[in-house]
Order: sequence, then C-alpha cells, then structure tokens
Amino acid sequence: MDWLTFLLAACLAFLGWYALRLRQRLAQQQATVQRTEREWQARLETLSLERARLAAVLSRMTDAVLVADEAGRVTYANRAANELFGEPASGLAGRSVSAALRHHQLIQVWQRSRETGRPQQDTVDLPRRRRFVQITALPDAGGEGALILVQDLTRLRRLEQVRSQFVSDFSHELRTPLASIKALAETLAEGALEDVAAARRFLEHLVREVDAVDRMTQDLLMLARLESGRERLQRRPLSPCEPLRAATARLLPQVTRGGLQLDVRCPANLPLVSVDADSLTRALMNLLHNAIKFTPPGGRVTLSVSLVANRIRWQVRDTGPGILPDDLPHIFERFYKVDRARSGSGSGLGLSIVRHIAESHGGRVWAESAPGQGSVFYLEVPL
Ligand code: ADP
Repeated sequence: MDWLTFLLAACLAFLGWYALRLRQRLAQQQATVQRTEREWQARLETLSLERARLAAVLSRMTDAVLVADEAGRVTYANRAANELFGEPASGLAGRSVSAALRHHQLIQVWQRSRETGRPQQDTVDLPRRRRFVQITALPDAGGEGALILVQDLTRLRRLEQVRSQFVSDFSHELRTPLASIKALAETLAEGALEDVAAARRFLEHLVREVDAVDRMTQDLLMLARLESGRERLQRRPLSPCEPLRAATARLLPQVTRGGLQLDVRCPANLPLVSVDADSLTRALMNLLHNAIKFTPPGGRVTLSVSLVANRIRWQVRDTGPGILPDDLPHIFERFYKVDRARSGSGSGLGLSIVRHIAESHGGRVWAESAPGQGSVFYLEVPL
C-alpha cells in the first residue's frame, strides 16, 4: 500500500473513533439532562404538595390570615379572613389592606409594623361586627410585605365576662345576709342580750340568716360541680315514681307548716327510666320547695308524672301567685329572683341547678305560668 492509501485509512480510522467519542459524550449529556429533569420534576411535585398542604391548613384555620405585598395590597386571604371581614364570596385578595380591614385600629397596627419593621399586636373591639379580636402584623424580613393574623377572641371574652358577672352576683347575694348577721350580732352585743325575749328573737333571726348563707354556698358548690362535669351521674333504671316520692317525703313537714294541700299522682304502669336517683330527687325537691315557698296557706300543690312520647315528664303545679311573662324566660338563670322581698331566703340558684340536672340527663325543664294563675314546672327526661 502506498503512503497515500495509508494516510486515507488513518484519517478514516480517526474520524470513526472521533464520531464514537462524540456519540458517547452526547449520550452522557442526554443522561445528565434527563436526570436533572427528573430531579426538577420531583422538586416541583414536592413544592406543589407542600403548597397544597399549606393552602389546606390555612383555609381550615379558624384565625384569619392575610398576606400583603410591599404596595399594601392583599395577595392572599384565607376563608376565615374573608368571612370575618364580610367577603365570603368574592374574597379580599386584590384589595388594599385598608379596604380589607376597614377599621382604623386594625389598619394602624399594620401601618406601625411597616414603619418599624417589627411585629405589632393589639386587641380591638369591633362593635358593628359584634366581635372582639386580636390582630398581629408580622413584617416580611425582605421587602415591606406583611403577614396579618386576626384571632377572634369573642367567645373567650364572653366567658370572662360571665365569670366576673358571676363573682359580682355572688358577692352581692352574700352581702345581704352577712349585713343582717352583723347588725343582729351588734345589737345583741350592745345590750339586747339582757332582754331575754328580744335576744331569743334575734338569735332565731341569726340562725335563719346563717341558714341562708349555708344554703347558698351548698347550691353554689352543687352548681359548680354540675357545670364542671365533675358531678358524675350514677344512672340506673328507676321507677319514675321513686324520686317523686322521695322528694315529697323530705318536704312534707314544710307542706304541713305552710298550710297547703298536697296531691301526688303516680300511675302504676309507667316504664323504668335510666336516671341518677339523687340528682333527680334533688331537682324535684327544688321545684317542690319553690311551689311550697311561693304558694300562700290554703293553696294546693300537685305533683304528677306521665309518659309523653318516649319521655318521662314530671310536673309540679301550684296555685301560687304565678310569674310575669317578662320574668318567665329568665327564672332558670343563676341568681335570678323575681320578687327579692318574697324569695329573700332563696339563693336564686335552685332553678339553674334543676336545668343543669335536666340537661345532664339529655332532658329539659320549662315552666308555664301567668300572674294569678299559679305555675306549672315540667321536667322531662328521655327514657
Ligand atoms: P330561689 O332560690 O330564689 O327560689 P330559684 O332559682 O329556685 O331561686 O327561682 C328563681 C325565681 O323564680 C324565684 O326567685 C321566683 O321569683 C321564681 N319562681 C320559681 N318558682 C316559682 C313558683 N313556683 N311560683 C312563683 N315564682 C317562682
């Protein structure tokens, strides 16, 4: 072979080798591109999963969440925010923060966080929306955007108000008998002790007042146990007549002392009902006690029980003065007394205890009454 042929063959061999290298490199690059593509795909999937998760958490949150950009525009608002600020349908996204919050104190908190670049927080009353909220504005570390969180504290505040109202009611109720006790003790100390007849009267009065305080604290303890759920019901199948008879037996001396007629009607064929015997007797005693207390001598008190559509219904009827329509919806509230002079010895807690006992049995209590027509109290419990 001459040298020209040799050169040609060498060139061809080199070209073949080079093409092979090129193909290999191309294949490698292709594999790298595919791998990178797969990695990006996986990252994108993770990101969109995280995004969906975050969106689900935000939309289920009961706190309102708003995200604002550096121009002061809402870029995101969760469902709670749209509902709280009155835009459940169209949504707040796209509006200015001021137009979304629509309350100068709320807007000020967001503005302060923008100016200072630091988190700001405040509690704000929104009387028109009947809400009490806590707003927190957290500025974005980079730009001037912000995360605005609004928590609805209305329920917590209501509970707080109920509690402080309760403490003030209780102190007020205690003050009256305690003031009497103090006055009676002072009168005795100042010389009434020497007058035996007067001293006896004062002492009897003192005992009555101490009894009232004692009853009130006992009622209060009972109510606290019922409300906290610490009072466990010991339910067992019971004849509906049993608590009725137990309550009557315990209060019979007071019926006689009050010069009242008492009727107890209990049919024999009633089914057993699953109740806590002590609590139910207590509830019926409270109703009977009121009937006795409010009915003048010569009046009549009737206790009965019947089966009404799968429910056992106890009834306490009296021929007393009745209750005004304005008072009727309130008598089951704590410390509610219609006529403070007449029910002076009561704590105003008796009926709220009855209501708790009825509700803890899945039942209810209510009253029908009109002035001069007597009253009927119903206590109903499902079988
Ligand atoms: P109290 O200890 O003052 O009796 P209750 O909670 O038992 O408290 O009753 C609340 C109020 O409801 C009473 O102060 C009274 O004004 C009214 N009331 C309850 N039962 C009767 C009744 N049988 N007749 C007339 N008023 C009643």
